[in-house]
Amino acid sequence: MKLILLGAPGAGKGTVAKLLTALDGSVQISTGDILRGAVQAKTELGQEAEAFMKRGDLVPDSLIMGIMEKRLQESDCAKGFLLDGFPRTIPQAEELTQLLAKLNIKLDMAVDIDVPRDIILDRLCTRRTCENSACQAIYNVKSNPPKVEGICDKCGAKAVQREDETETAITHRLETYNEKTAPLIGFYREKGLLMSVPATSSDDVINAVKAKLNL
Ligand code: AMP
Repeated sequence: MKLILLGAPGAGKGTVAKLLTALDGSVQISTGDILRGAVQAKTELGQEAEAFMKRGDLVPDSLIMGIMEKRLQESDCAKGFLLDGFPRTIPQAEELTQLLAKLNIKLDMAVDIDVPRDIILDRLCTRRTCENSACQAIYNVKSNPPKVEGICDKCGAKAVQREDETETAITHRLETYNEKTAPLIGFYREKGLLMSVPATSSDDVINAVKAKLNL
């Protein structure tokens, strides 16, 4: 499947993407994971992106498009991909449309995961992420804690609160989402590619995608 996952920070895009990859071997492409890996590895990209990310601001479109143009041409994307956290602005969406046309790739749809704001806030404050950039497993101290507090079940690295998941940064990320990313819902609706799923759990989204794509 070839999907864009839309939704506010904390809507569950990462969790849904991981579950969908298991259905047909599509790969999850998370620009946030790629950027956090680059920050940890102190690459040039990471050094350019770090300050924006800490503040909860978006990284400039030009940096993101460079990453995506390369990533979409890697061989593991042939079976399909789930774009998680990209596109994030109208210019990114417009450039993606052109890029996909150039690469002769047809999207199935953009899935908007629509989660009530109180659930989003609660999830982001209680989320923990594995700090190993090759893993980045996601936990929740209330609903899905690691077996040993603060330690990732999968790789044994620390499971920590992300630097952009303090209350101030979260509020700012949600404002940025409303201003810059929410307009993508209308963008994909106009193209006839939007499926909106009111969701309080990842199962709601998985079932809706399965039904729509006959999986
Ligand atoms: P995420 O893990 O998707 O919440 O992304 C974490 C941070 O990475 C965001 O708050 C942005 O600073 C940056 N980021 C991730 N994806 C993008 C994107 N497509 N465009 C701009 N910035 C991004």
